[in-house]
Amino acid sequence: MGRMKEIFMREVQEKYGSYENYTKQLNETAAKQWVHKETPCPNCMNATLLQNQHLNIVCDSCGQEFIEVEGALRFK
Ligand SMILES: [Zn+2]
Repeated sequence: MGRMKEIFMREVQEKYGSYENYTKQLNETAAKQWVHKETPCPNCMNATLLQNQHLNIVCDSCGQEFIEVEGALRFK
């Protein structure tokens, strides 16, 4: 384990108690910022599009990124 990683892990331990708590908090924060969209993905047709507050859209299935332009999805 590298020195930076050691320092990072110690800070995580002190702040969150464990690395598991840290990743859990990260996931919860990320989940709050991303909104699930009803529109199916134009690329893979799964209803797995997620949109964040900056209006960036990403498909959770195929990973394709989109932007919304005048209510229509455009490939990024
Ligand atoms: Zn997709």
